[in-house]
Amino acid sequence: MTTEIDKEELKKRLTPIQWHVTQEKGTERPYTGCYNKFYEKGTYTCIICDQELFSSDTKYDSGCGWPAFNEVLDQGRVKLTKDTSHVGGNLLLLIANPDMVRTEVTCSKCGSHLGHVFNDGPKPTRKRFCINSASINFHAAGEEKKTVS
Ligand SMILES: [Zn+2]
Repeated sequence: MTTEIDKEELKKRLTPIQWHVTQEKGTERPYTGCYNKFYEKGTYTCIICDQELFSSDTKYDSGCGWPAFNEVLDQGRVKLTKDTSHVGGNLLLLIANPDMVRTEVTCSKCGSHLGHVFNDGPKPTRKRFCINSASINFHAAGEEKKTVS
């Protein structure tokens, strides 16, 4: 079951880019995200529901212009969905170019769009979770995590 979110409240709380990315499956412009070149120790959480998603330990510089992670904190934290929208469902094109299938990454708890995952990352997972800064919050290691009432 996903957490019920009040869309009106959400729209007031989020910046336009945060709203666009998480609710309309948007993508921030490359090299503009606040966590693109950011390597402090800590945990990244979903900006909507505060679920912990990624650790700074798996963050690396992919050069792609968005924060990249080698692994999720826990597989159950995200939902992966094949996204073929950009080839317009052209199956022959997909069979010829399997790399064109992108896998969308969404928060398993609230369904917010986070980014995409690709299989061209470094060892050991070979995964590159390409995540929008606008969809995540950073909590520095050792910092008291605020409790949501
Ligand atoms: Zn969430």
